[in-house]
Amino acid sequence: MDMGIRGRKAIVCAASKGLGKGCAMALAEEGVDLVINARTKSELDATADEIARKFGVKVTAVAVDVTTEAGRNQVLAACPEPDIIVNNAGGPPPGDFRDWNRDDWIKAIDANMLTPIEFIKASVDGMMKRGFGRIVNITSSSVKAPIDILGLSNGARSGLTGFVAGVARKTIRNGVTINGLLPGPFDTDRLRGTMRVRASKAGVKFEEEYAANAKAHPAGRFGTAEEFGKMCAFLCSVHAGYMTGQNILMDGGQYPGTY
Ligand code: NAP
Repeated sequence: MDMGIRGRKAIVCAASKGLGKGCAMALAEEGVDLVINARTKSELDATADEIARKFGVKVTAVAVDVTTEAGRNQVLAACPEPDIIVNNAGGPPPGDFRDWNRDDWIKAIDANMLTPIEFIKASVDGMMKRGFGRIVNITSSSVKAPIDILGLSNGARSGLTGFVAGVARKTIRNGVTINGLLPGPFDTDRLRGTMRVRASKAGVKFEEEYAANAKAHPAGRFGTAEEFGKMCAFLCSVHAGYMTGQNILMDGGQYPGTY
């Protein structure tokens, strides 16, 4: 299926690896020019080269911390009139809410709620004026079913989801959609890092912990960044123009509810 977005311009945040990279690759495959970002310049530049070589699109790498105002300004300066924005950043650390202070909460809210809101604020009026826009917020399955040790994520991402639920109904009349894409467990460095910690706590090998968790999942495996990226590209496509304010759970059937 042709997604109908060839020649469009996208900002994909936190995209040197993992889910962000999956989204960047899938958009590039559809002929979208990209501004990608992450903090580690060497990794980001390598990803930008890889995508540009593979898909022949223009890829600009902006190595900044997207959770800072200065970082976001640099990203927006590289792409002042984006047609597509994929909001993403690292997730907050796990822990017990009794140990978190105000600074911990502000950090999580900055990264996983206010940063996407700032990008929406900076771009949505221009998109509406031009009559086309797609904003996809990478959040988490924890928005739908909270994960106890990820209270910072549950809270901050739910705040973003609530905000978007309102604004997404105001933009669609002018061709701009805003949706959440909620990953369950996907095989990325982040997931592998979590498995490594669990394995060492349980005194087992990483491979054993990884295999046991994959086997226990309804799909018998974790998702791939490629699968995630394809869904993101669809949400950014012309075909998804009648879909806004939705939260698309992609978790291989892990959520046990009927609705
Ligand atoms: P990942 O493989 O660790 O990749 C994270 C990417 O984000 C890297 O490119 C990293 O590069 C970049 N990044 C992190 N913090 C950043 C910042 N402040 N500014 C700019 N770039 C930043 O992680 P992932 O698994 O793709 O996860 C992406 C998001 O999905 C996270 O918020 C995560 O919590 C959420 N999520 C993931 C899963 C999963 O199973 N993978 C499940 C639910 C939710 P640098 O470190 O160089 O900046």
